[in-house]
Amino acid sequence: MVVGRVNGHEEAAGVATPEDALAHMLDWLRADENASAVWYLREDWPSPVTLIGRPAPGVVGETRRCAHLFRVRPGAVLYGSITARCGTELLLTEIEWLRLGAGMPCECCLVIGARHSRSWEGWTR
Ligand SMILES: [Zn+2]
Repeated sequence: MVVGRVNGHEEAAGVATPEDALAHMLDWLRADENASAVWYLREDWPSPVTLIGRPAPGVVGETRRCAHLFRVRPGAVLYGSITARCGTELLLTEIEWLRLGAGMPCECCLVIGARHSRSWEGWTR
């Protein structure tokens, strides 16, 4: 879900993935440079969701582009940046979102994630 204020009125859009959310926000920002937008997981979502993302090409060196884990709680509003399990903070506009199993996983996120969640089942190295 993304919500925002564009050209003075409220906009809201249901989105399925972080990429969709970001695409909406960037559209709004193009339409109105004063637009504000945030995105969040619906409060009625049954459980926290783990997202996988890495810094977009060009943001950091290739060797540092490992895939981090981001845990999003239902109802939590995301704006500006997001912090991975390992403590790495990335701007939402500078993240390339990945599917489970894609990319080189961040070792720290892996260790912390393995203790706390079942979402690691299926991660292949
Ligand atoms: Zn990490």
